Amino acid sequence: MSEAVRIDPETGLKVFKTRAAKASEKIAGKGYSVVTDQKLRELPQMPAGATFNAEEQAKYRAFKEARAGAADYMAMEGNFKKYLDDVYSEPPIPREALTDECEILVVGGGFGGLLLWHKLNEAGFTDVRFCEKGGDVGGTWYWNRYPGIACDVESYSYLPLLEETGYIPSMKFASGFEILEHCQRMAEKFGFYDHCLFHTTVEATTWDEESGRWIVETDRGDKMRARFVILANGILTTPKLARIPGMETFKGESFHTSRWNYNIDLTGKRVGIIGTGATAVQAIPELAKVVGDLYVFQRTPSSIDVRDQRETSREERETWSKEPGWARARRERFARISEVRAAVLANDDYLAGKVKDFKERKQYDRQLTPEERMQKQLDSSFRLMEQIRARVDAIVKDPKTAAALKPYYPYGCKRPTFHDEYLPTFNLPHVHLVDTAPRGVNEINERGVVHDGVEYPLDVLIYATGFQWMGTSTFQRIKGRGGRTLTEKWQTEGTRTFLGLHTSGFPNLFIVTGPQGGGGSFNFTDVIYAHADYLIWMMQTMRERGAGVVDVRKEPEDRYAEHCREVDIATAPLRDCISYYNGEGKAAPGSLAYYGGRQWDRFRTEAQSSLEPYVFGTDAN
Ligand code: NAP
Repeated sequence: MSEAVRIDPETGLKVFKTRAAKASEKIAGKGYSVVTDQKLRELPQMPAGATFNAEEQAKYRAFKEARAGAADYMAMEGNFKKYLDDVYSEPPIPREALTDECEILVVGGGFGGLLLWHKLNEAGFTDVRFCEKGGDVGGTWYWNRYPGIACDVESYSYLPLLEETGYIPSMKFASGFEILEHCQRMAEKFGFYDHCLFHTTVEATTWDEESGRWIVETDRGDKMRARFVILANGILTTPKLARIPGMETFKGESFHTSRWNYNIDLTGKRVGIIGTGATAVQAIPELAKVVGDLYVFQRTPSSIDVRDQRETSREERETWSKEPGWARARRERFARISEVRAAVLANDDYLAGKVKDFKERKQYDRQLTPEERMQKQLDSSFRLMEQIRARVDAIVKDPKTAAALKPYYPYGCKRPTFHDEYLPTFNLPHVHLVDTAPRGVNEINERGVVHDGVEYPLDVLIYATGFQWMGTSTFQRIKGRGGRTLTEKWQTEGTRTFLGLHTSGFPNLFIVTGPQGGGGSFNFTDVIYAHADYLIWMMQTMRERGAGVVDVRKEPEDRYAEHCREVDIATAPLRDCISYYNGEGKAAPGSLAYYGGRQWDRFRTEAQSSLEPYVFGTDAN
């Protein structure tokens, strides 16, 4: 047996030592700065008389229609496979292939895996093994280490297990580097590292009916058996590239934001960045501080709301360190906020429990119809977007650049972003916005990017072109009952799950935070907590009943899928734009994210009390 794998004489379980060392100390950075200029920290007043009238609606429609069909992405294969290399860790720790059995195998060592381990361990499930593609824990926060990275949900509600680790984040919106350290803290404190196989990618997961086990094969030659498989490998995991003719001919350096190459010194260089989503919005202000010239190739502007970053105050530290349950209480209050913007701006007085609500509630003398409620939501979204557009005019000096930076779609339809330095960056003489609307960059040559007949020579080209949403390639490699893959099932029947966690025909397989997986607020961590609690309940229930296998019945699954479809359709006007959330406008309603709010809880509690959706089987072994 290698040093990487040993047997614990007390438990008889295998203990792993496969965490890879950090590749270089150059991999370091910070997130949002504290900005003192008050003008940059608040939105301008609402423009007087702003209404979402027919003219404005037509403008939104034209903005959307011009972009329809423009999105064209490709996987990182062939020449582009190198973009997937792990640039953050030393090479994998050598170890023998494993062919043994464990009770629970979890795919992913990010927030999901870390929290699951803590909860499973506490509940007495210790025969748990994790497979993680990266060289260390962190998931999203392992792979995304671009300059400027930070969370956009306040860190006191977003970082898991704060009380359990005794940690208080340094900033209201912690940097990704601080979050990664917190992941390492959680892993160290709760013994996660002993259970994780790093640099190990699951390549096939096949249900064996006879033994009632999953057979899990990896790129390290493992062929392990597990009673349960939990997919905790994230919702924006697989990076993608815009497909642009000539991209393979570019002779300069290039990389995707999720594999930031700190070996390339950007100081004084001509750097281009394609894309202006949440990643680029955070990276661009930091890039502008070091590069010689920065070319930002934008197809669709993001909405740039205020960030208002601040340090954690001394008073907060003192109060929280004496207040058991502070983080849980805060997270629970956060979860009660049902409006995106109110949630992300995170009113401190409300979250600290000092005031009862985060806003004054309007009282209506009668109950509004669903149509009236929708109209009110669209109107307030429009007014907020008007403020966001007015902010661009107030900050960006060049009128042509300002016009290009204004988004025309409902708030939150594309991922809202927050920054107090992004817009001022476009006033710098060495920062150039190249507006490629509405079709995007469509030519790259060996020297750089070409757009509208103008060549932009570059030393370095950065793809900030995002990730596959709700669709990891894992789904193609999971074979359930009858040898059918999950992808095949969903392609033929439409996405069908129960609570987003189970899918019929795939017994003992649980998907954490996947398609149709509700259970929380805008705080992703909240969803993970809800899913982890549910899974612990399920496994305990099975233990109590002496069940070895659980599947879900078709009828409750169909009912739940129909519910997902209906709420998606009912709320669709709020997301009427081209966005990865709706599969660039092409996804079947209800097949991706979940928009049913707390109704997920109702489905869950009903199922837990009746057990009607489940089919329990005895252990084949
Ligand atoms: P993204 O939002 O998918 O952005 C991709 C960008 O590439 C878009 O601006 C897209 O434009 C652009 N693009 C694609 N093809 C193009 C072309 N041919 N020419 C020009 N532009 C092109 O990806 P992301 O910014 O990496 O963010 C992904 C998600 O990760 C976020 O939405 C968020 O959920 C998460 N994230 C979170 C944080 C945080 O919590 N702080 C930070 C970063 C990322 P179109 O809009 O026109 O398609």
